[in-house]
Amino acid sequence: RSILGAGATREDEALEASIRPQRLDEYLGQQPVREQLGIYIEAARARGEALDHVLIFGPPGLGKTTLSHVIANELGVNLRVTSGPVIEKAGDLAALLTNLQPHDVLFIDEIHRMSPVVEEVLYPAMEDFQIDIMIGEGPAARSIKLDLPPFTLIGATTRAGLLTAPLRDRFGIVQRLEFYTPEELTKIVRRSARILGIDCEPEGAGEIARRARGTPRIANRLLRRVRDYAQVKAGGRIDKEVAQAAMAMLKVDPEGFDELDRRLLNTIIGHFDGGPVGVESLAASLSEERGTLEDVIEPYLIQQGFLVRTARGRMATPKAYRHLGLTVPARDTG
Ligand code: ADP
Repeated sequence: RSILGAGATREDEALEASIRPQRLDEYLGQQPVREQLGIYIEAARARGEALDHVLIFGPPGLGKTTLSHVIANELGVNLRVTSGPVIEKAGDLAALLTNLQPHDVLFIDEIHRMSPVVEEVLYPAMEDFQIDIMIGEGPAARSIKLDLPPFTLIGATTRAGLLTAPLRDRFGIVQRLEFYTPEELTKIVRRSARILGIDCEPEGAGEIARRARGTPRIANRLLRRVRDYAQVKAGGRIDKEVAQAAMAMLKVDPEGFDELDRRLLNTIIGHFDGGPVGVESLAASLSEERGTLEDVIEPYLIQQGFLVRTARGRMATPKAYRHLGLTVPARDTG
């Protein structure tokens, strides 16, 4: 999954930072989320209070990190960024929290991967802006309470269901990000092209947008790879034909599926008779992590109607057969 998924190069990261929206009006799509957050932010500012804690969930690359930057900017406060697996000890979290300025935003990515011990520290911090820390060791150890400045915690996770109930209940604002429409992604591609000085015709942008699996991060990565192709093969200009030719070279098909998407559908159909097949068996056949399938690959295939999740496992839909050029089997419905 080199082009679209993990394994971003340092150059990719630097470019990503330059095109990351900073303000709510640059954050394209996600209309309901923008509207609601706009109101909550304005209200909190007018009252001179910290914004309530925000939980953002949605598949990777849809803009959770970006949204936390936007929220901090709109509030006019500092943003501290960390992630669940990085906070190893309760003391690490305590250090982060006690260094916040009033009303600052602390962003914890992959918050579902925090250890239970660390999570315990977070509860009173979120609820009462207080933490209990242990001083000393052995019989002399005692716990002291520390007051924290009022702050906003923004937690990000791929699925809300991954959080424990006590943690989920402590977020006053819960926002779910949806896959972007091709029209929204076209706007995002055109904006990125403008910032990066890429010569990209609207139709070329549309072609990239349609194949970006509803995901801004993928749209921006495809734009950069298509730019390389255009530079070498087409005098630098991205039009529809150039975008299509580049995408063929990248093995991204007209639905935006890459090899792993196709391998997943082919495996369900070829090895498991179209399903239903349990996610563990599927992951084993594909030599992929179960979490990657559930968080990265499946959501878009399901949203687009190529895959369904049933109580007995995953099933390929007739649309999947047709996309792969296979005959849809007559199923016995008994
Ligand atoms: P996540 O944290 O959900 O994995 P990111 O916030 O890192 O996703 O978003 C990936 C990239 O996509 C960002 O660098 C940003 O440039 C772009 N992006 C995300 N959401 C939007 C948006 N609503 N409008 C424009 N660009 C966006």
